Amino acid sequence: MDYTLPEFLAHAIALEHEAAERYLELADRMEAHRNDPVSALFRDMVRYSRMHRDSIIERARGVTLPTLRPGQYRWLQAPEAGDEEGFDVMLDAYQALTYALKNEMRALDYYCSVSEQTADAEVRRMAAEFAAEETEHVQALEDWMARTVPPAVFLREDPERPARA
Ligand code: ZN
Repeated sequence: MDYTLPEFLAHAIALEHEAAERYLELADRMEAHRNDPVSALFRDMVRYSRMHRDSIIERARGVTLPTLRPGQYRWLQAPEAGDEEGFDVMLDAYQALTYALKNEMRALDYYCSVSEQTADAEVRRMAAEFAAEETEHVQALEDWMARTVPPAVFLREDPERPARA
């Protein structure tokens, strides 16, 4: 993967945009679960992802960006995403955090591998900078997971389970 600057910028914009969209969904879901602290965390992540995306767009001004293939740099599918109704009910805080963490680690891997493999000094510098940012996101999610109810509680398949306060 030897990214040119325009390729890297296009991917990074898509990645941050996607992250913001998914965090918005997760924040709404946590709100529906009345889990306000985790919802607030995800809303912060929405804000950071958007700020990051906008700063990359700013950086890309005047650069002709390639069109990405559909589906490129999407987040992984959320658990139970096939069943929209079930998804809302089942995606609890721990699952939501696990899912977000998995995606943040993918983003981190992506930026790390670009910074290691690119021949372009500017791409390498930016990818390393973005990787550092993702490391902070991973850390923030891990901190929350450490404070969140263990998975066994959430793995029970009980769609009638009421939302916790
Ligand atoms: Zn991130």
